[in-house]
Amino acid sequence: MKNFKETLYDAVCQEFRIDKMYFESKTEHQHLMIFHNAQLGRVMTLDGVVQTTEADEFIYHEMMAHVPIFAHGNAKKVLIIGGGDGGMLREVLRHDGIEVTQVEIDQAVIDMSVQYLPKHSQGAYDDPRANIVIADGIDFVRNSDEKFDVIISDSTDPIGPGEVLFTEDFYGLAKTRLNEGGVIATQNGVPFFQQDELINTYQRMGKHFSDTTFYGASIPTYYGGIMTFAWGTDNTALRNTPLATLQARFEKAGFKTRYYNPAIHQAAFALPQYLINALNGN
Ligand code: SAM
Repeated sequence: MKNFKETLYDAVCQEFRIDKMYFESKTEHQHLMIFHNAQLGRVMTLDGVVQTTEADEFIYHEMMAHVPIFAHGNAKKVLIIGGGDGGMLREVLRHDGIEVTQVEIDQAVIDMSVQYLPKHSQGAYDDPRANIVIADGIDFVRNSDEKFDVIISDSTDPIGPGEVLFTEDFYGLAKTRLNEGGVIATQNGVPFFQQDELINTYQRMGKHFSDTTFYGASIPTYYGGIMTFAWGTDNTALRNTPLATLQARFEKAGFKTRYYNPAIHQAAFALPQYLINALNGN
């Protein structure tokens, strides 16, 4: 039986047994694989890096969708950049009264995910509240004149097509697409191994938003400890939304989650000291 060996880092790696291969091909933009692993369910990789697994995707998608939306409290329009597997679209659409534009660079990721990872999107791509655009996310924020309350960048790592989504340009352009009081949350890697990414984002995003920080969650198959989500907004009150307010919004939303709850939402903004030190240049 073959194994998949992740190629994200030089000197350490994780390996998954491929119990059944569903799809493997070079798309127009990247090398895409979807296979089954007995412990993790279906696994998607892009360019040799694990993107999502059926077993632990709920942690990532719930934390990236619900933290900014519940903190905002009145989001009507959400922009998702990337997220071709459909898990983020599914979670965002659980909120009533929200319209979503999703900008994904690679149509093949959407098509293959609908076919081989259907538990991720669960029909979200057929929802009339979703507008799907196939384009590079940076071109969309540069050329569109639409405004959003929440922007979620569910991108690959800053290598290949995802690299532009970690630039100062991108953060500045994304800000022009936010309504007043809006917030952007971005996938920002596992800082124990990807500390440069954390510091770069802090500096680049910090040039455009008066409140730039990170919140975290541990997602087992993004190994190496907590992963961070970057948080950029000019509404400094958002990250300190009171627990009672989050609880009221969560109850009103009326859906069940498996990882997210208001207490973990608040706690996720507490960063370990080694990351605070890194952000302060120590
Ligand atoms: N949860 C994953 C993670 O943490 O690594 C991300 C998963 S999602 C599959 C990432 C998506 O971002 C991919 O479908 C990829 O095609 C898309 N993507 C990469 N660069 C992009 C860009 N410049 N514009 C829009 N989408 C992009």
